[in-house]
Amino acid sequence: MSKINYDLSKIRAIAFDVDGVLSPSVVPIDSDGNPRRMANIKDGYAMVQAIRHGLKLAIISGADTEPVRRRFELIGFTDIYLGQIDKLPVLRQWMQANGLAPEEVAYCGDDIPDILPMKHIGLSVAPRDADEAVKACARFISTVDGGHGVARELLQEIMMAQGIWPGTDNSAFGK
Ligand SMILES: [Mg+2]
Repeated sequence: MSKINYDLSKIRAIAFDVDGVLSPSVVPIDSDGNPRRMANIKDGYAMVQAIRHGLKLAIISGADTEPVRRRFELIGFTDIYLGQIDKLPVLRQWMQANGLAPEEVAYCGDDIPDILPMKHIGLSVAPRDADEAVKACARFISTVDGGHGVARELLQEIMMAQGIWPGTDNSAFGK
């Protein structure tokens, strides 16, 4: 029984915000005043597996730096939208281009710009330390804070429900 109250067998695609979701909200600032990001290795593993098993993943972020792009390119993302302040049009376009119905999509965000995208899709997810208004419209609130395995928890739940999580009895692990 999944801890997420949603028919996870429907999910074909997941879009992620970066800051506060895949990287913590509190990060160091470099000598030029730019925030640094952190990456969660267990998130990375789950993303690699998800892509390998045919789930469609996207990044939709206000951040616009080369290291962020590179991080997700290396994982295997092909749909990386950076510098996006107005996220809903990007999400809609991505869904349309991939023939995705709202109930087939999960979106994971932590702050005010994520509210409209979260209302547009079936499974809205917020990290435990997300803004209160964001949590109020989330279908599932992660048991962990942003940057501490939000994507891992979500992708593992989805892939377990679909029988494709490595290590589950009917998974394609090792193939
Ligand atoms: Mg954010």
